[in-house]
Amino acid sequence: MGLRDQVFQIGREMRLSSLLRLSRAKTSVPVLCFHRISEDQDLFFPPMRPELFRKLLKSMLRHYDCISLEEAASERRLPRRAFVVTFDDGYSDFIETALPILKELKIQSTHAILPGLIESEGTIWTQRLSSILTQRRMKDATSVSDWGELRKNLFSQLKVFSVNERNQALQKMEQDTGVKGEGPRLMNWQEIQRCAEAGVEIASHSLNHEPLTSYSFSELKQDLQLSKELIESKIKAEVKTIAFPNGFYNEVVLRVSEALGYRRALLCDDLFYTRKASSALKVIPRFVMGSSSLAEEVLRAEGLHTYLRQARSWVKPQ
Ligand SMILES: [Zn+2]
Repeated sequence: MGLRDQVFQIGREMRLSSLLRLSRAKTSVPVLCFHRISEDQDLFFPPMRPELFRKLLKSMLRHYDCISLEEAASERRLPRRAFVVTFDDGYSDFIETALPILKELKIQSTHAILPGLIESEGTIWTQRLSSILTQRRMKDATSVSDWGELRKNLFSQLKVFSVNERNQALQKMEQDTGVKGEGPRLMNWQEIQRCAEAGVEIASHSLNHEPLTSYSFSELKQDLQLSKELIESKIKAEVKTIAFPNGFYNEVVLRVSEALGYRRALLCDDLFYTRKASSALKVIPRFVMGSSSLAEEVLRAEGLHTYLRQARSWVKPQ
């Protein structure tokens, strides 16, 4: 067990969870954001292992009721302690691995998918980038000292590119490195329909996972509208939720989402969702879950990382 794991294990043994629960306002709900649940190895986005996923949820269910996103965002009275489960990206390991566990534990969930990429059988650009770097690293481990840093730098440069510029850059990287960037398989429409029939709320995650803040106004409107309509035509139900790719949004993105009829917007801000009866569009922060130890992920779901970050910003000199 590494030092980090030991620290969180001690935190758990000291019953930090119960302290965190006591200190929190009753109206605040942890909304958890998961990505892949799989035994696959991935250098940059390690998936959460299925056994950890099951144990984490079981641990949460001992102290919380799992409620749907719709219920959390409604005006209805909530259980004293509640949490919400959401997924992003639409990976096929959801239906293969996560959904059976969710069914077994009677847990409701929301899944934000990418209808443009499902249609084109494409890959999320961030996964394509990671795949190129992972394969390149396996070929020659000594050429770059910090691959994580390199990926971060490339990500921040590529995210402000237009779609065409980014595709060209990734293509050039593929040519230069002699590898093909491929991401994990996304669910197809039949699988999405089966998820919807099993009670999973299907949300939009935009068409192709482009950063919405890099779009012009008309591109933004078109993406948010088309992704909603495409999913609705496939699942024959209203799409009420949008999850912003990489959590990037601004006032315009919020305004357009509301105007197009979305009722809820999911963020990746690592904050508790606190209910407010304000605008028609409920803006809902989430905790992005990792793939560390059980002790750490339980404490993350209870908000420990958020409190620690806040505490760090208070002690930091301004
Ligand atoms: Zn995503």
